[in-house]
Amino acid sequence: MKLTMFLVAALLVALSLACSKVNNPRTATESTASAVSPDSGTDSNSERGKKMPEKIIKTDEEWREQLTDEQYYVTREKGTERAFTGQYYDLHEEGTFLCIGCGNELFGSDTKFDSGTGWPSFWSPITKEAVKIETDNSYGMRRIEVLCSRCDAHLGHLFDDGPAPTHLRYCINSVALKFDKKK
Ligand SMILES: [Zn+2]
Repeated sequence: MKLTMFLVAALLVALSLACSKVNNPRTATESTASAVSPDSGTDSNSERGKKMPEKIIKTDEEWREQLTDEQYYVTREKGTERAFTGQYYDLHEEGTFLCIGCGNELFGSDTKFDSGTGWPSFWSPITKEAVKIETDNSYGMRRIEVLCSRCDAHLGHLFDDGPAPTHLRYCINSVALKFDKKK
């Protein structure tokens, strides 16, 4: 009985979090957009901005149809694959890592490094615009969440213990990625 009560409470908290998340990103993007986007920005930045791909929005049903159970669990339910089980943490080939949900180019093999964590790790995304960063307070931890900027797929988390030059570590689930080997 106690357990049921707890589950109901947890569900309510999750629901209210989900609701607040719907509103927050929009206001956040709007305010950053107005703060960062004046034309006085550097040329390379505004050029990149123009290439911003169309946003992809699908229903849960459509995602379930398109993705495997594990891909759905990680990218749509913000799950985490078990360390050292993914297909890319130990991959050392040249190429590009795309979003499993929408094919957005996310990370290049040139910024991939061996973190020893058992998850593919990168010190930078392919462009700043490729990913989206949000605060994740789930599981009683305050972490920085990394999402695909195009389809909002949960990719992994961002830590500040990476190597030079950025000292960042984008800790990404293999199942959220699709490797496109350099030809
Ligand atoms: Zn995506």
